[in-house]
Amino acid sequence: MDDAYDEECDYLFKAVLIGDSGVGKSNLLSRFAKDEFRLDSKPTIGVEFAYRNIKVRDKLIKAQIWDTAGQERFRAITSSYYRGAMGALLVYDITRRSSYENLRKWLLELRDFGGQDMVVILVGNKSDLDQSREVEKEEGKGFAEKEGFCFMETSALKNMNVEEVFLQMITKVYDITRQRSL
Ligand code: GDP
Repeated sequence: MDDAYDEECDYLFKAVLIGDSGVGKSNLLSRFAKDEFRLDSKPTIGVEFAYRNIKVRDKLIKAQIWDTAGQERFRAITSSYYRGAMGALLVYDITRRSSYENLRKWLLELRDFGGQDMVVILVGNKSDLDQSREVEKEEGKGFAEKEGFCFMETSALKNMNVEEVFLQMITKVYDITRQRSL
């Protein structure tokens, strides 16, 4: 990951991870940033972020991804978390219905603090736990369609669709940025 600091890049994008505590945000980020599944938690204060350089349409993009580091339980996320963010992964846990129901709450916050053109991808994580599923795939899809978001189910544990979901978000952010600068 240290290489990400050194390499020259064409664009730098900030994106945020949001969603209830325990849905797997930190593990998705660890996977994406370091290809490592982290079984237990993180510092209890502050915000964490990770960088990764990624090639999109022949351009080198440095993605800076912010994670709440467990703070979502203790305080409302402040505007600095969202400031400058061009993309968000809105994550719920397919085995925990309440995390899906709380998506509405996260959307309110997104609308208050997120930018207008923010790219949002809805992510149903823990797809490896299909036997404990409490939210059908169709429900996630339907929610995303209604809001105009893309949707994917992922497993940070099995490393399924993790690369894809980040890549999809970063590609969309890149395309929007390009369009704006034309
Ligand atoms: P966060 O609070 O949203 O950042 O969630 P964490 O990344 O800390 O994960 C919460 C718990 O869910 C941890 O015990 C992880 O090991 C577990 N977890 C995260 N992602 C997955 C996944 O895709 N599948 C399974 N089975 N467990 C996961």
